[in-house]
Amino acid sequence: MIGVEAVGYVETSAELAAGVATGLAAVAVGGTLTWAALSAGSQMFGRTLVAPKRPDEICLTYDDGPNPAVTPLLLEALARAEVRATFFLIGGFVRQCPEMVREIRAAGHLVGNHTMTHPWLAWQTERRIREEIAGASAAIEDVLGERVRYFRAPHGARRPVVLRVVREMGMVPVQWNAMGYDWRPVGAAEIAGSVEKGVARNRRAGLGSNILLHDGGHTGLGAARMETVRATQMLVERCAGARFVGVDAWG
Ligand SMILES: [Zn+2]
Repeated sequence: MIGVEAVGYVETSAELAAGVATGLAAVAVGGTLTWAALSAGSQMFGRTLVAPKRPDEICLTYDDGPNPAVTPLLLEALARAEVRATFFLIGGFVRQCPEMVREIRAAGHLVGNHTMTHPWLAWQTERRIREEIAGASAAIEDVLGERVRYFRAPHGARRPVVLRVVREMGMVPVQWNAMGYDWRPVGAAEIAGSVEKGVARNRRAGLGSNILLHDGGHTGLGAARMETVRATQMLVERCAGARFVGVDAWG
């Protein structure tokens, strides 16, 4: 709409209009690349795992842990509901809280890589990208003694080299298609409501739901995410008819 209005405004001068059109094209290309780098579902920079055409399946994913202030309570809530989830862990926190990582795995959940320090990978050098991803895999593998097979980029931000490095290291890059927006100061009902809207939208599209939530905060251990735990309790009750799976059920 903005583009249409801008061109209409200068239509008395063909030269100026051409200049504006060129500018708008540049903005459009820049915008497309930004969208490809940041949009959760874009496949433009390489294939990522989001969700298959299985509208009855839900994958709960929790990023930015482990977080000793919240993760144990989340594990209890998931155990009560007999739901298996996926945790994308920050390597630096894994080094600080190895026992918490063992508890997540012992409860049957899937553990994935969320880099060492949670940088915006889309803007990093290839060397830094490799260090961040390899460092987190090494931290997790040291603790669990098993290969890490799934990766989620911090903020979902990537560019082709990020996905290439992830694949070279034998991992599948995972995005999402529903969010709780739980990094904002919102309550459990609002988080659950946002997720449910996403699940309904995905079902209408014939897709499963890959849900982004957080049991930690990337700036440090101890982030307050109790509203996410409460939202999880609401979601597993309200979506009782769904089949909860780990991302490893999808590819
Ligand atoms: Zn994150």
